Amino acid sequence: MKIEFSGAARNVTGSKHLLHVNEHKILLDCGLFQGRRRDSIEANLIFPFDVTEIDALILSHAHIDHSGAIPLLVKRGFQGPIYCTHATRDLCSIMLKDAAYIQEKDAEWIRKKLKDPKAEPLYTVEDAEKAMTLFRSVEYKQWFSPASGVRVCFHDAGHILGSAVEEWEIEDKDIGKTIRLGFTGDLGRKCLPILRDPVQLENLDILITESTYGNRLHDEIENVAAKLAKDINAAVARDGKIFVPAFSVGRTQEILYILRQLQEQKKIKPFPIFVDSPLSTSATEIFALHPECFDEDLQKMMKKGLDPFCSDCADVQYIRDVEESKALNQFPAPMMVISASGMCEAGRIRHHLANNIEDEKNLILIVGFMAENTLGRKIVEKENPVNIFGEPHELNAQVEIYNAFSAHADQTGLLDFANKSGKPKALFLVHGEDESLHVFREELGKQKNIMKSDIFIPTPGDIFEIKKDKTWHLSSEVNELSRSLLGGEWSPIE
Ligand SMILES: [Zn+2]
Repeated sequence: MKIEFSGAARNVTGSKHLLHVNEHKILLDCGLFQGRRRDSIEANLIFPFDVTEIDALILSHAHIDHSGAIPLLVKRGFQGPIYCTHATRDLCSIMLKDAAYIQEKDAEWIRKKLKDPKAEPLYTVEDAEKAMTLFRSVEYKQWFSPASGVRVCFHDAGHILGSAVEEWEIEDKDIGKTIRLGFTGDLGRKCLPILRDPVQLENLDILITESTYGNRLHDEIENVAAKLAKDINAAVARDGKIFVPAFSVGRTQEILYILRQLQEQKKIKPFPIFVDSPLSTSATEIFALHPECFDEDLQKMMKKGLDPFCSDCADVQYIRDVEESKALNQFPAPMMVISASGMCEAGRIRHHLANNIEDEKNLILIVGFMAENTLGRKIVEKENPVNIFGEPHELNAQVEIYNAFSAHADQTGLLDFANKSGKPKALFLVHGEDESLHVFREELGKQKNIMKSDIFIPTPGDIFEIKKDKTWHLSSEVNELSRSLLGGEWSPIE
């Protein structure tokens, strides 16, 4: 058996790991590289393997950096089944179409404005719809067999709706033994609102673990509600308007759920709240269809007949229509608008910020990670004036930053998961930047169940082979095409 690392190796996007098991090839995740750099855009055009030779795809969750290349994989000739949980399938049905729509619009803009007649989307809405026909969704805790001699089971990852950690049992004919492999996908956190906690995988021979926050600790999520109530009450008292840039899937529903709890506990008074995004509206409808993913607190609320996402609340309105969105400009304070995109790089939130950022009575709640060079990051850093649609705006509104909301495990969560996973003979650290991978490896090497020499940080193109004693070695064979993606310059991590 071999494992070949391609995307999300020494990088956090473009997740793709390829298992060569007996005569089969099975792909773990198929995400898009994200970012504005030219090499990410070009890397998305290339699959560093023959897609027609892939027997099956196992998808950990619906985030685009894990699922976003699926329509292109299918367009290039992949015909195998795509296994995921039911909720992941439903989220992909809206998120892949949304990704296609954005690419179609971008290509149209480039053709027109940059006079480049060859500009094409990676895939179209039609391609995304076609890809959905290959999805085979399965329940959590239900074993399935994507190829002979291979069994897989999904368990809660606590990251986004439908997200899974994967437990694998592989009968490796080459060494005549059964291998227990675990893949974290993106590992979530305990005690996050809405979702059940991540399930611990045990007795593993191999662990492929994400490492996004291998070098960081998060603030406690438990303190968020009290701070939200305080900030909201102050803004409402001064007749301000509140704006919340939020990812359509996950963060929007978390905020709504916390607001609902605060209202129930009489910690905030009802006031008008608008969820202004077609994708957020559709995503919330899908959340409501999947109570199997919810934690006990949320189940209790539902048993009381309350809708956790406020679809039934008189003061909460979901907006799809553009004209209704524009009309919000005239709506009197106090009010709240929750809108996408999460980093303020696109979508309706930019219009709301342009119209309201100069009023000191208003409040902007930062509830998600803001990448460098995004409008969201400029607001976090209080850049003043701040450019929106090319025009300078005075940043007078109050800005409050919440660092506790991450949907990823922090260093403690990642170490704990790895340490309780048995005594794996190989740990592959993926889905992290070099700094995070380096710190995580050092800390992991100090854990009692883990040997530092068994920890590997794969570079794109690395292929690892298993030996008879279940230990691993780096093959001299390299996938040069994988290695050359993203600029191809990889110095060793010391
Ligand atoms: Zn994710």
